[in-house]
Amino acid sequence: MADYKGILICGELANGKLASITTELLGCGRKLADDLKEDLLCLLTGEGIGEAAKEAVAYGADKVYVAEHASLKEYEADSYMQVADRLVKEVSPRAILMGQTFMGRDFGPRLAFRLQTSLATDCLDLSIDPQTRTLVQTRPVYGSNAQAVFTGEAMPQIATVRSKAMSPLERDDSRKGEIISYKVDVDVSKVRIKTLETIKEEAVGMKLEDAPVIVCGGRGLGGPDPFQTTLKELADLLNGAVGASRPPADNGWVSEALHIGLTGKIVAPDLYFAIAVSGASQHTAGCSSSKHIIAINKDPEANIFREAEFGVVGKYEEVVPALTKKLKELLAA
Ligand SMILES: Cc1cc2nc3c(=O)[nH]c(=O)nc-3n(C[C@H](O)[C@H](O)[C@H](O)COP(=O)(O)OP(=O)(O)OC[C@H]3O[C@@H](n4cnc5c(N)ncnc54)[C@H](O)[C@@H]3O)c2cc1C
Repeated sequence: MADYKGILICGELANGKLASITTELLGCGRKLADDLKEDLLCLLTGEGIGEAAKEAVAYGADKVYVAEHASLKEYEADSYMQVADRLVKEVSPRAILMGQTFMGRDFGPRLAFRLQTSLATDCLDLSIDPQTRTLVQTRPVYGSNAQAVFTGEAMPQIATVRSKAMSPLERDDSRKGEIISYKVDVDVSKVRIKTLETIKEEAVGMKLEDAPVIVCGGRGLGGPDPFQTTLKELADLLNGAVGASRPPADNGWVSEALHIGLTGKIVAPDLYFAIAVSGASQHTAGCSSSKHIIAINKDPEANIFREAEFGVVGKYEEVVPALTKKLKELLAA
């Protein structure tokens, strides 16, 4: 049986830098590796990785494996698998962590199948069982109405981690780590999917996942206009972004990219306004990690009030403009 050691992060890049989920995974992985007194490893796959490897060390990695190849420029499962499968077999990590992202959702199950091991998706917390030295994984179940704790005997253990569930370490450029150029010869004949075209989503304002304030509207807004006017005005005032529950996205009132929840984006801003949103568990699954939730709803029995720290019972048409006006006065004072 292989001697499993260390925690391996499958990192992601965004515009040549580490993606924020990767810095969060490194923060969490550092703690797990310290508890085990083993190394924190990070695999960066792509083209022109350069500075991101140094960043990975500064955020906590002991060893960074840099796999560069023209066919690894964009995430594609068959080519990434050739790298990860080989590296995992060489370094035998105890656990492999990746983000609950487009890549992680696709790659995690594939890698688990390839390695004939287990996978826990969308983890909110990870720790090490001091007796068995295995990874203990906490994840939501029953549409986020409960959390369950899992562990597994199959090695290595694989987990995908929800964005913003973990905190990155403070960047420390004086940290020492090893950057290893991991030579790969990707067999392109085994790559079954080809990216024909990449269409960049038009960035309108701040990215939802990065916004410190989110003003989210639900079906109760009745149509697309309030998203562009009433909600946008409040979001702009607070340097925030507009989001939506699923029905407005399904109805085409807003772009699908604004949809928050179990099947949409998972967000954790400092402040989350839920306006005319009933608070179904599939919606709150995407926003319950927000630091403060303020609900505005005309129905005093709406479930969202159970999630919210502050609530206003009233029609959004009256409450939101009044709130925006008051905030403007306070901010101008
Ligand atoms: C498998 C599955 C996955 C799902 N994934 C998601 C997901 O990712 N995200 C998601 O959001 N949903 C998701 N849903 C749908 C979810 O179950 C709910 O149907 C949805 O969240 C309801 O959206 P809502 O709160 O905007 O609308 P509603 O439930 O219709 O609520 C509208 C609210 O607006 C209030 N209201 C109406 N008029 C006003 C007014 N003038 N002023 C103030 N308040 C007003 C009402 O009192 C009501 O509470 C999923 C469902 C399933 C089955």
